Amino acid sequence: MKIIKSKQVANLDIEQAKILVVDDEYRLLTSLEALLVAQGFDVTTALGGLNACEALKQDSFDLVLLDLNMPDIDGHQVMDFVAENNMDPAIIVVSGESSFTAVSKALRRGAYDYLRKPYDSAELINTTRNCLQKVMLEKAHHQMQARLQKSEELHRYIVNSSPDVVFMLDRQGRFTFLNRKVETLLGYSKQDLLGKSYETIIEAEDIDRANYIFTEHGKKRDGAWSSELRLKVKKNEHASRHFEITFFPIERKVKINGEESLQVVGTYGTARDITERKEAEEFINFQAYHDLLTRLPNRSLFKDRLNLAMAQAKRNDNQVAVMFLDLDRFKVINDSLGHAMGDRLLQAVAMRLDNVIRKCDTLSRFGGDEFTLLLPNINSAEDARIIAKKVINTLKEPFILGEHEVFVGVSIGISMFPTAGDTVDQLIQNADVAMYHVKSRGKDGYQFFSPSMEVADSNRIKLEREIRRALENNEFKVFYQPQINAKTNDVIGVEALVRWQHPTRGLVFPGEFLPLAEETKLLTDISEWVLNSACQEVQGWINNGHPNIRLSVNFSPLQVEHPRFVDHLLETLERNNFPATNLEVEITENAIMNDLDQMTKKLNRLSEHGVTIAIDDFGTGYSSLNYLRKLPIHTLKVDQSFVKDIEETMGDACIVNAIINMAHGLKLNIVAEGVETEVQLQYLKDLGCQELQGFYFGRAEPGEVILSRLESPHAKIA
Ligand code: C2E
Ligand code: MG
Ligand code: MG
Repeated sequence: MKIIKSKQVANLDIEQAKILVVDDEYRLLTSLEALLVAQGFDVTTALGGLNACEALKQDSFDLVLLDLNMPDIDGHQVMDFVAENNMDPAIIVVSGESSFTAVSKALRRGAYDYLRKPYDSAELINTTRNCLQKVMLEKAHHQMQARLQKSEELHRYIVNSSPDVVFMLDRQGRFTFLNRKVETLLGYSKQDLLGKSYETIIEAEDIDRANYIFTEHGKKRDGAWSSELRLKVKKNEHASRHFEITFFPIERKVKINGEESLQVVGTYGTARDITERKEAEEFINFQAYHDLLTRLPNRSLFKDRLNLAMAQAKRNDNQVAVMFLDLDRFKVINDSLGHAMGDRLLQAVAMRLDNVIRKCDTLSRFGGDEFTLLLPNINSAEDARIIAKKVINTLKEPFILGEHEVFVGVSIGISMFPTAGDTVDQLIQNADVAMYHVKSRGKDGYQFFSPSMEVADSNRIKLEREIRRALENNEFKVFYQPQINAKTNDVIGVEALVRWQHPTRGLVFPGEFLPLAEETKLLTDISEWVLNSACQEVQGWINNGHPNIRLSVNFSPLQVEHPRFVDHLLETLERNNFPATNLEVEITENAIMNDLDQMTKKLNRLSEHGVTIAIDDFGTGYSSLNYLRKLPIHTLKVDQSFVKDIEETMGDACIVNAIINMAHGLKLNIVAEGVETEVQLQYLKDLGCQELQGFYFGRAEPGEVILSRLESPHAKIA
């Protein structure tokens, strides 16, 4: 095989086209080669059909000048070979054979032209050139096509793998193009949206803004325009994602009345998903202005809203109410049930409060168990009063925390703008002052601020400091008030009542300092001291000739609710070697009702140790009598208010009758408190009341006074 290469260029210039010349006659082959090389072509020769096929396999040619009659493989077979191998050189047959069949057979096989031997050089060159011209044009076209396709693929790849949604809209705002991202981010297929308006995917609330941007932008024609819009998620009507969308106008030159001008024909844009950033921003924003536990506004947001409400009220000549709410028993619940339960309680309280306020009101968590409530734009204090009552009522219902049922009350102080102050801080502070007044009066209620309270409030702080000092300096004293057997007039017991021997004010009574002590937790310290001192002192009496004397000690709800109430009490008894059977614990109905389950357990434990339980101020608290059967109650102490009623309603059946009858029915011991007169004494005796206590028999006095009286009981009793 002989393959002769003349020139090695492959380009679209026809001079650089590669030509294969095939003939079985060597002489003819070389002359053809010479002729073409002289024209500047890159020529390869192949002697015979077999060599031709070999050459075609090895190289690609633009044109083959092909002889038909060849001994080994003829021209037709070479053409078949070309077709079978999907080769694409143009073929010009140069042959001595001129029969119609041979010519048409060659042309049918796709030959470009047919030249008869002996050929005319000029004609051959001409035909070759024409043919190559056509071949090259086709080739150039193909190459262009391929390049275009490649570039289109590249662009499609870039557009589709863009992290953003890429879209095009026509002048009417209908989608004409969308990349695949719209499917991954929002769930729409292109078919869902092509031809539809952009409004289809804009979140309802953002449509007006989107329309504004679209139309205004359409008018302007000056560069890009970005905006944040929410786009709807296909599968979920309520869900949307945030996007930063940038629009670019698509402009085209148009001729109007012969004049060329630029016109916007559509919009091209990208939409970047910024949902995560937005959510993070929103969370940070939320965190800055809300309490994360209850999700209520915090102090800062409350103050901000109050400021606004004040400005508005000034303009409308209206009022604003600020309420300061403090839960009454939160600390005990938090201490006894743990912080997790405390948190749940706060959440439940927030939810309940949220239900009783208006949409325009702001409820905030101010800190701990303190909430503030802002009522903007109200006409009178009466409006605030109504809400305060609602708040108190809604919190009265028990809260169920897991297996516990707990009761919290709320104390509410109210300050009105403009009368109670005209700055944010003043209004809040005065509402706080008013709230403390509710607390000191026994909690669970509301009160409006009045200027006289401010004085009282500064006294409060002073008092708190003084109580602390009094504890350190041992200024508290236990006094004892005798309790008398109605039949024998014997002193059968004493009630320990705390007094404060104040260095300048003299003897101070518990009503003046206990409520505040309770607020500040100082009460626990005072009460522990009272119990301990009384046990110590009375233990001496018991051991010295008065073995049956009963010691009654008061316990506030806060103390009783303490999870270690029973343990502390028993420890104190043991420490003082005080017999449990000589102790009576006085608690109020309210203390019991706060948590009946816990209370049942505690009182049963005490009762098992021999401690007796008395219900103090009976008849003034909850009127549920159910607990009387359930609990190990020993004594009812009829409140002094009912004893007072005896003389006023003399003759009528008064409540005392009912209480004493009921106590008899339940086989409970009765102590009537506050007996001051002979008439009361007689009336109570007639009713069969066994035990009496009151000024008639003696006030509370220091231990030594009582002891001397015990030694000669009848001497002092009238
Ligand atoms: P209470 O337990 O109902 O005590 C009876 C109160 O009535 C005592 O007032 C007593 O002095 C007073 N009283 C007794 N007889 C008469 C009477 O004939 N007429 C009138 N008008 N009053 C009478 P006090 O000592 O001022 O105590 C007030 C309340 O303070 C007590 O009410 C009790 O709840 C509480 N308290 C006193 N000491 C303690 C204590 O050590 N711990 C606790 N937690 N509370 C105490
Ligand atoms: Mg008492
Ligand atoms: Mg009482």
